[in-house]
This record gives sequence, structure tokens and C-alpha cells, in this order.
Amino acid sequence: APQANTNNASERVKVVLRVRPTIDEDLSNARTQDDLVVGVKVAANNRAISLSQPLFDSREFRADAVLGPQATQDDMYAAVAAPVVDQVLAGFNGTVMAYGQTGSGKTYTVFGPEETVERSGDPNYFEKCGVIPRAIDHVFEHINACKETTEFRVAISCLEIYMEYVMDLFDLDKANMAVREDPESGVFVEGMQRIAVASPFDALVLIQEAFKNRAISQTYMNKTSSRSHVIVFISVEQRPIAPLPGSPNAGGLRPVKSGLLTLVDLAGSERVSKSGSDGQRLREAKRINQSLCALGNCVAALSERKPDRHIPYRNCKLTRILTDSLGGNTKTCLVATICPTVYNYEESISTCLFATRAM
Ligand code: ADP
Ligand code: MG
Repeated sequence: APQANTNNASERVKVVLRVRPTIDEDLSNARTQDDLVVGVKVAANNRAISLSQPLFDSREFRADAVLGPQATQDDMYAAVAAPVVDQVLAGFNGTVMAYGQTGSGKTYTVFGPEETVERSGDPNYFEKCGVIPRAIDHVFEHINACKETTEFRVAISCLEIYMEYVMDLFDLDKANMAVREDPESGVFVEGMQRIAVASPFDALVLIQEAFKNRAISQTYMNKTSSRSHVIVFISVEQRPIAPLPGSPNAGGLRPVKSGLLTLVDLAGSERVSKSGSDGQRLREAKRINQSLCALGNCVAALSERKPDRHIPYRNCKLTRILTDSLGGNTKTCLVATICPTVYNYEESISTCLFATRAM
């Protein structure tokens, strides 16, 4: 890609740990009162957490930032996503990914709670919205502030990856799309819809459609929820409005700034027990493990300081599709979401181990 790798001193992936509050579902899932004990403590400086469990010593994990159970969606956006979107508006790439076990808050972080994604008519809905609706607002605020001098093109794409099948969430007839590579434009998904949007409203309507289509494809492919990765791309192109004919720069090349914002709601990272699962669930789990492991290897390689580091993007569809969204001049943030109760101790440990490989 022409502008990839121009900023090779790119930073490593930033790691954020987000611990959600205890919710009603925790009460109904708990087998005993002990399951509900909170086993996650956030350090006073918000740079580490410790995980504890009655039978083991507690373990501490450091991160670039920790968002505790009281952190709002606005806190999350301001601390984590806003700098990434600013980078996109400056013409670079930016990525926010949510990783964690099912039920830990990935979708809440990326999209918002399901009811706000579906019913944005509620006047207070914005408070609970996740990164995507806020990023859309952020982008269009910037556009409004510069529209006298700059022309913008914003387009949205949305993919789902399930068991190495790539689907377009704007066109469910396109199942099993091919991932290809072009020497000029880099890696791309053949036939992926890129839908132009002219307002935050247009954009939110599309996001809701994608969200609904995720549920539809879930039903007819007999998937359990959270077994697929969802990737939303928001591309922002800007070029100065042409000077008037006859003025000094008329007809000259107008520089284009083009940034790509990528938001990823990853499949649940939990281990599936061999005993309680049918063949389909085990095949899903194997694919998810492979792709999350491949992602972890890319993220770890990106944190190496060697100039000749090799990033193993080619090992699965997820990492191939994310090639331009992880490497080169990208600002990337991995949000690892964690359940607060001791019941989830082991999954939380494994989530923290995954996330801190990037540090
Ligand atoms: P995942 O996508 O990881 O499976 P969800 O995002 O669906 O998990 O979250 C599970 C439940 O917890 C949902 O009901 C969601 O609204 C709630 N939840 C998650 N994170 C938070 C949070 N930070 N504050 C309040 N509720 C949350
Ligand atoms: Mg989810």
C-alpha cells in the first residue's frame, strides 16, 4: 500500500484492561454465594490489577491503563478511543479491539449494550453507547469544523468471520468471501461493501443494520453468540477543496489524507470443555483459538523493538484482514475485558496473559 510503513517507529499495541461491574446475570449464573465474590482489585494508579481467588496467591498484571467497574463509556472513549480516532483524522490508521471471555463486556465496549444499539430513539441512550457511535460523532464533529476548506468521504464496511468464513454484514448473500492481496492496495476482501455515509445518522443506521444481520446470520448458521469476530471499518478521506480557477494553486494536485479506523469485537476467548460440548462447538472453539492465537502472535511481534521484526499476518483470515489495521502507521489499542467475580478467575488470568504479551 502506498502510504503504509511511512511511520515505522510506530508504537507497540497499547493494552487496556477493563473490568465490568457485577450484573444481574452474574447472580443467576452463580452456583453458590462464593461465586459472586469480587476477585479483581484495581491499583490506585489505574495501571495494574490484581486477581485473587481463595485457593491461590493473587496475581498482578500491569497495563497502559485500567478501567475499573465504575468507569463510564465516556471515560473509556476519552482515555482509549479518542486518541485513536484523532490519529485517523490526521490521515493514519487506528484500531481498537476488544478481547475477553463471553459476557465480559466486549460488545458493550465496542458497540454499547444491545438495547442502545437497537433503540437509539431514547434521549439518554448516548450515555451508554460504546466506541463506535462515539467515534462516528467524533469524526463528523471534525468534518463540520473543517467543511469550509476540506472535502470528506466517509465509508463504512462491516465483516463477520465465523470458522474462517468471511461474511459481509451489509450483504448476507455474500458468504465465504475471498481475502486477496494486491501489490498496490494491499490486503482486501473481495466484494466487500463500502457504504458512503454523509451524516452520523446514516452511519448509525448502518451500524444497527450490521448488528441485526449479525444476529440473523447467527440464527441460520446455528452459531452460539460470541463465536464470531466482527470487524467494522470506517474510512475517512479528506482533501482540500479546490482553489478557485485562476488562483495560484488551481489545477495542482490536491493532497489526500486517508485514514482507516478499525473496530473489532472478537469472538469469546473462553476455553470450551471437551466434556460438555458437541462436535460443532468444539470445531468452533478450535478455530477461535487458532485465530486468537494468531492475533496474539502478531500483537506480540509488533511490540518487538527489532527493525527486521516479522509480523506473522498470514496465518488466518482474521490477521490477514487486519494487516493494514495493525502494522505500519497504525495506532492500535487492545481492550481486554474482564469479569469481576472469582468464579471467572481462570479465564481472567488467561485474558490478562494474552493482553500483556503486547507490553
Ligand atoms: P461480551 O460481548 O464480551 O460477550 P457483553 O458486552 O454482551 O459481553 O456484556 C455482557 C453483559 O454485561 C451485558 O448485559 C452488558 O450490558 C453488561 N456489561 C458489560 N460491560 C459493562 C460495563 N462496563 N458496565 C455495565 N454493564 C456492562
Ligand atoms: Mg458480544
